[in-house]
This record gives sequence, C-alpha cells and structure tokens, in this order.
Amino acid sequence: MKGADEVLLVVDVQYDFMPGGALGVARGDEIVPVINRLARGFSHVVLTQDWHPRGHISFAANHPGRTPFEMTTLAYGEQVLWPTHCVQDTEGAALHRDLDVPHARLVIRKGHHANVDSYSAFIEADRKTSTGLAGYLRDVGVSRVYLCGLATDYCVAWSALDARNAGFEVTVIEDACRAIDLDGSLAKAWEDMAAAGVGRIGSDALLQAS
Ligand SMILES: [Zn+2]
Repeated sequence: MKGADEVLLVVDVQYDFMPGGALGVARGDEIVPVINRLARGFSHVVLTQDWHPRGHISFAANHPGRTPFEMTTLAYGEQVLWPTHCVQDTEGAALHRDLDVPHARLVIRKGHHANVDSYSAFIEADRKTSTGLAGYLRDVGVSRVYLCGLATDYCVAWSALDARNAGFEVTVIEDACRAIDLDGSLAKAWEDMAAAGVGRIGSDALLQAS
C-alpha cells in the first residue's frame, strides 16, 4: 500500500471522454479496470472532473462559424476549440459508473469558469488561477503524485507538468492513460514531461514495487 506522502490523481474518467462520448478518446474505457486495480494500492486517491458551464469559452459551438478542433486565440493565449463536452450536471460529465474508488477523498472540478479552460488539475489555462489542489496536497503531507486518466496529451500532461512546477515528484502511469493525439500532441506531451522530470511507469511495475 502506498503511504500517506503519495497520491493517485485520477484525471477526467468521464463519459464524454469515453468512446462514443462528445469528445471520445479512443480506447478510453480500457483504463477503468486498470485504475481500479491501482486505486486499491493507494490509501489516498483524488479524482478530477472536467465541469463546464454550457456557455464555456472552449466550446466551438460558442464561437459562431468555428468548428471543433480548430485553434483560436483567447485573452490568455492559444486555445483548441472542442466539441461541447462535460457540461455541469449532465450524463456526459458523470464519472464512469465502473470506476470503483470508494475511498477517493476529493473530487476537483475544473473548467468551471466560463471564460477560462483548465486542462490542468492545478492551474487553469490562464496560467494564473489555482484550483487549490497543490495547497491541499501539501497540507496533507503529499510529496509524490502518480497520474492516470484522460487524456494523456492534455489534462494528464498539463497536470503532471504543473505538479512538477509546484514541487512534487511526479510519475505518469502509462497504461492507465489514453491520448487524443491531435497533430502530434502525444509525442510533444511526452517530450515536455520528460524534460520537466516527470517519470513514466507501468501499472504492473508500480503495484509490484508497493
Ligand atoms: Zn473540457
């Protein structure tokens, strides 16, 4: 069992990111049993949930004439325009019902500000607004963050990089993630994470080591 100084951060295991969902990630459903197995090895698990108001600035539908997966420039910088997804309190925003993590202590809901997206579980896309997660983890004595979930190249990678910036040791559990891979985004995400000192491990190796 992982100790009190380690947390498993489970990113956005929600229906809209599952195959067939509004922003479906290929084979995203395959990670659910892997995460369940991992979670049993951690005393401390935190979940995240993408949680947008219907008028959210990241939705292509809120930008007349624009289509999903185009880039646009917002007040805080470049932004991918996404299909409408994870609208607050809809079925698509719900956590996968097979996710079996009854001992999860905290659910961080992100992307709730109408004019700011948040891939990261730590800092919103304006790169200024904190979700409070780093402070929470520090307050309860966590020094190492293990990440899994959806999608590797967006919310997992941004969260991993911000966790490093916040001073945590960080490892991504590769087989407990799946990627969107938009224009080479997956390769770039792994490069950025390696450069920042983010580790990679498989779930079997991690569970055997604990
Ligand atoms: Zn989103």
